[in-house]
Amino acid sequence: MEEPQPSGQPCATPGCRESGDYRAPKTRGEKPEYQWFCLDHVRDYNKSWNYFEGMSQAEIEAYMKEAVTGHRPTWYMGGNGAVSPERLQDALARFMAAGMQTRTKAVPPLPRKLRKALEELELEHPTSHKDIKKRYKMLVKQYHPDVNHGDKDAEERFKRITIAYKELLEDYPEHGV
Ligand SMILES: [Zn+2]
Repeated sequence: MEEPQPSGQPCATPGCRESGDYRAPKTRGEKPEYQWFCLDHVRDYNKSWNYFEGMSQAEIEAYMKEAVTGHRPTWYMGGNGAVSPERLQDALARFMAAGMQTRTKAVPPLPRKLRKALEELELEHPTSHKDIKKRYKMLVKQYHPDVNHGDKDAEERFKRITIAYKELLEDYPEHGV
C-alpha cells in the first residue's frame, strides 16, 4: 500500500466524499495514468485491479458481463466490437461502483428510533402488524399498573412500551408488507 499523498482531489468513487489521497493506476502500459481514491476505495480498487491482472480483455469483458447480466445493461456497452482500454477502465470503475452500491443496499440500517421501539417490545425486524399487537397485549398484561400495585419501574416500562407500540404500528401498517 502506498503512503497517502494529499492530492487535493476527491475520491474517484461516485458518491464518495472522502478526499482522494491514495493513487491507483487508471491505465496499464508504459505511461500509466493515475486516479485518486480514499483509503477504503483504493483497497477495493486495487483488489479488482489485481483480480483482473493477467486476464485478456475478452475475459474481463466476459466476467463483467456475467456479473451484471440483466442488472445494469445501461453501462455495459454490449455489442461485439473490440473494447478500447479506456472503455474497459471506465467499465471497470462502474463495475466496482455498482458492486459497492449493492453492498451498501444489502444491509439498510434501521432508523435508530425504530430499532429502539422494536427492542422495547422485544421484537426483531422484520415483524408484522399482527405480531406487534400480539406482543403488546402480552406485555400489557405483564406491566400494566393495575397488576403491579404501584411498582414505579413497571409503570415506566409500561409507558415506554405503549409509546413504542404506537410508533411501530405506524411503521408496520395493518395492510402493509
Ligand atoms: Zn472513497
